[in-house]
Amino acid sequence: MLRIGRFAPSPTGPLHAGSLVAALASWLDVRARGPQARWLVRIEDADTERCLPGMGEEILEQLAACGLTPDDTPVWQTRRTGLYDRALDRLRTAQLAYPCGCSRKDIDEALARSGIVHARHGERVYPGTCRDGLHGKPARAWRFAAARFQADRGPAALHWTDRRLGSQAQDVAQEVGDFVLKRADGPWAYQLAVVVDDADQGVTDVVRGEDLADNTARQILLQQALGVPTPSYLHTPLVRGADGDKLSKQNGATPLNTATPSDALAALDSAGQVLGLTATSASSAAEALAAWVPQWRELYNPRP
Ligand code: GLU
Repeated sequence: MLRIGRFAPSPTGPLHAGSLVAALASWLDVRARGPQARWLVRIEDADTERCLPGMGEEILEQLAACGLTPDDTPVWQTRRTGLYDRALDRLRTAQLAYPCGCSRKDIDEALARSGIVHARHGERVYPGTCRDGLHGKPARAWRFAAARFQADRGPAALHWTDRRLGSQAQDVAQEVGDFVLKRADGPWAYQLAVVVDDADQGVTDVVRGEDLADNTARQILLQQALGVPTPSYLHTPLVRGADGDKLSKQNGATPLNTATPSDALAALDSAGQVLGLTATSASSAAEALAAWVPQWRELYNPRP
């Protein structure tokens, strides 16, 4: 089986220590599977508002400075919107996507009326107001009919296994609700774009940061609804800031310095440590990467 992995950065800023960990891990996972396996880079610029001009190119240069060059031409989500349109059409035809006319205020009011105070990471669980029609409101966003799909497919909780975190479960309808596929302000939502792209690019193995693990159940539901394969998932440890919190701009997620070969090697070394790889005495990025491939095989057991 041809194994395909990918690194899918959002060009909201240059690479930082956390994103290099995901890039390095996904690269090692592919290289550890043998010479046929392919490593792709996808620039996830679907959220046009958060993306900064020129950042995709800068990320690709930083990756190259670290010896991480993709096996195919990188793709950009903003150049692939036809694919997302077609996926939404298929979901609509299957009655698994519906237009939603709710503003944030409408959602808050509906939640308050039903006595639900639950918000997940600050995101409200959608109460399903427009599930059976727009009630005269204009359509703003498109939502996935998670509750309907889940009811049809059987047991409520979706179970999946992460290669590092082990067994996971989430009841998407209950814990997240009918999530957004296309946002009211226009852009395609991450969940839809990532599922369509992984399927279109034949990705068999997703390796990314642990902060994204929580999205996986939603993505697997969408894969099932679209009838595309589910890849394997491995979520890598997060880089912690000096305060022990997830790295953010506030606590030290400064752009990586990859200006000289020794800067790039130092950045790679720190990323390798987060992944449990031992420091090498390598004098170049290429040497360090080559030394880590067998270590990765031992640690994460990727199948050829
Ligand atoms: N574009 C997402 C991010 O940079 C990653 C998506 C993924 O790897 O699934 O956070």
